[in-house]
Amino acid sequence: MDVNALFRISYGLYILSVRDGDKDNGCIINTAVQVTNTPNRLSVCLSKQNYSTEILLRTGEFNVSMLTEDTPFEVFKKFGYQSGRNADKFDEADIKRGENGIAYCARYANSYVSGKVIATYDVGTHIMFIADVTDAVILTDKPSVTYDYYFKHIKPAPVKTEKKGYRCKICGYIYEGEPLPADFICPICKHGAADFEKI
Ligand code: FE
Repeated sequence: MDVNALFRISYGLYILSVRDGDKDNGCIINTAVQVTNTPNRLSVCLSKQNYSTEILLRTGEFNVSMLTEDTPFEVFKKFGYQSGRNADKFDEADIKRGENGIAYCARYANSYVSGKVIATYDVGTHIMFIADVTDAVILTDKPSVTYDYYFKHIKPAPVKTEKKGYRCKICGYIYEGEPLPADFICPICKHGAADFEKI
């Protein structure tokens, strides 16, 4: 089995945003999929370790912003490589809100969709949320970024290192040790051991 085949699925990259009282939070996902159109419903799948997951389980409402090809790496770092538990990911100056009061990525998204959760499924490391689409807005006509485009044109090449161990292919985090535990989860981007390569 060559698990790299799974990387050939042409995912997009999105910011999923939620609101916890006065606090805006969000994370990068590649797992937003429209599942039906009568009515319009979508699914999103989030790691149980994410602060956004905890908020969404409680509030049941979110926005998904479709990122464009000109989104700088800093945005992926800001939303994907740190936890909202100890950082503010949305700049106050940048915030625009949907009708649900939740922030969306006004600067680097070409559209956003608002969702209201109607069902959840525990899928192991992640929770899948099924949601009714409550709003959908086009912002610009710039092309949406794909996962493939991100890896080829946005993510910087890994820096050379003397360290021995395993590097996370998603964010570059290095696990120093041998072997890499099969149930290891990257502390930075929350991807599992399958997304690590030996260095
Ligand atoms: Fe990682």
